[in-house]
Amino acid sequence: MKLLVTGGAGFIGSAVVRLAIADGHEVVNLDALTYAACLDNVASVADNPGYAFEQADIRDAAALKRVFDAHQPDAVMHLAAESHVDRSIDGPGSFIDTNVTGTYTLLEAARAYWDGRGRPAGFRFHHISTDEVFGTLGDTGMFTEETPYAPNSPYSASKAASDHLVRAWHETYGLPVVLSNCSNNYGPFHFPEKLIPVVILNALAGKDIPIYGAGLNVRDWLFVEDHARALLTVVTKGEIGRSYNIGGNAEARNIDLVQMICTLLDDLRPAAKPYADQIRHVTDRPGHDLRYAIDATRIRDELGWQPTVTLAEGLAFTIQWYLDNEAWWTALQNREGVGKRLGVA
Ligand code: NAD
Repeated sequence: MKLLVTGGAGFIGSAVVRLAIADGHEVVNLDALTYAACLDNVASVADNPGYAFEQADIRDAAALKRVFDAHQPDAVMHLAAESHVDRSIDGPGSFIDTNVTGTYTLLEAARAYWDGRGRPAGFRFHHISTDEVFGTLGDTGMFTEETPYAPNSPYSASKAASDHLVRAWHETYGLPVVLSNCSNNYGPFHFPEKLIPVVILNALAGKDIPIYGAGLNVRDWLFVEDHARALLTVVTKGEIGRSYNIGGNAEARNIDLVQMICTLLDDLRPAAKPYADQIRHVTDRPGHDLRYAIDATRIRDELGWQPTVTLAEGLAFTIQWYLDNEAWWTALQNREGVGKRLGVA
């Protein structure tokens, strides 16, 4: 297939691009190259004849038309978004612009392209979304595809809005869409502002390792390459109009996750004192959801996907990757506008 991947210079998008090329797909990577992007993430495929890059903004209708006409994709995988919850609290405007208006503009460009080609049956518009649209869980239960939406942060509200737009473009205009909602990802090329890189990099630098509140918030963690495989499964085998929850079956309280990382680091890069001594509790994030957990039965039973990497394996791999790729993360940390934020998606 020829896949138009938006946000392919970001964390998850670049994993999708690398895996899609390895699988023999052609890829057009469309990315505006915001602060969160890094073309080094796709350097390993940049010379592949099946790969093309287009610097374009999903809010730019004329640019989107040009890209669709030039490349004639068989499917769109839409990952481009503002993705950092803490940034959405500080400044929600860009989240509405990109995640809501941008998704609307991309849907309209895809619809015009699909209509213009006589509505080919095989075309797919895949919207990649988050489990945060469902709000928060108590101590028990899991999000299913039928869980009502109840987003609590500007980020999750903007992703809920874009999910609704995608659904409506299917119901109203017949656009062949599939949707997926995934739990927290981690792995190589994760932007240094997000929780797991912050913990690793602050630990190595001898700085405080900040943790929101008591650290009792629970997240489900999925290794990014497992997510990329799930997304390629959904775009190629998913049923039109259906949504799929994707999760790692790996729930952890933030405090336990941070402790795990510190213990792994103690082995991989021994220091004078245990890294856990650097943990500091900081004021909690407003509207901080207590717990997310994903019931991924549907994608397992209907499409045959399940995670392959355990949290312990994935964390060890990820820590080693950060130890081996200091030039990558140093360059991003030094980028203008990148603070030392604590990101707990
Ligand atoms: P990211 O911030 O690492 O990457 C986003 C990419 O989108 C960047 O390359 C950026 O340049 C690009 N982009 C931003 N605005 C754009 C615009 N207006 N036009 C074109 N490109 C633009 O994000 P990520 O963590 O890789 O997340 C990718 C997608 O997956 C997002 O839609 C996010 O909501 C979703 N998601 C993320 C997670 C997670 O844990 N990170 C979990 C579930 C779902």
